[in-house]
Amino acid sequence: MITMPALIIRAPFAVAAVQGLPVGKKHVYKQIECRGRGYRTPYRGAVAIFASRNRDEADQDTIADVLALSRGKGRATSNDAREARTYCVQTFEKWRYRLAGFVRLFGVVTADQASQASKADYHELHVQAFDVTEAWQVETYLAIEPLHALTEPGPEFTSACAGCLASPPHNAIACHVGWQTVSLDEVPAVVSAEVGSWPVARGSRQLCKAAPSAILHDGA
Ligand SMILES: [Zn+2]
Repeated sequence: MITMPALIIRAPFAVAAVQGLPVGKKHVYKQIECRGRGYRTPYRGAVAIFASRNRDEADQDTIADVLALSRGKGRATSNDAREARTYCVQTFEKWRYRLAGFVRLFGVVTADQASQASKADYHELHVQAFDVTEAWQVETYLAIEPLHALTEPGPEFTSACAGCLASPPHNAIACHVGWQTVSLDEVPAVVSAEVGSWPVARGSRQLCKAAPSAILHDGA
């Protein structure tokens, strides 16, 4: 049994982060941007990625824009939109509320840091994540890379969530936002080797240490 941090995010994004978004014969691996400041963390290492039970029709437009950009086009075509719709439906049906895989978190960029970055670095942050049209209110950018993708859906989130397994259990509806703590029976060696100390102490000074450009060029 291993205890580690987890994020639970909508299926199209969870799958694109760990398994890659298919673009022709390639896969594009995306980073994750978050609306809340609570996603800032000094933790670095393996993170479990679960697909959530929520779906949002607007995700199809986001994925269509990512597909278009990955193909070097400025605007999504009706083909991109159709492909995005299929991808969103399929990822939701297969992965909802299940473990999809693991990523390595290697940096955190705050909105303040992003706003001070050069225009090119700011643009690159968005290109690497999902909001390629730079339309969202982003507070935290998580620099991640894929570590291990499952081919079949893993455990259901509530069967791994420490709060759900506690006695009495927490209020899952209210709590399944932001960083989560999960306990998993089976974790590949490549993942367990990179699980850091979790949860981390609050108020750590290492928070958000890396500058955007350092993160963008780390391991690129
Ligand atoms: Zn829970």
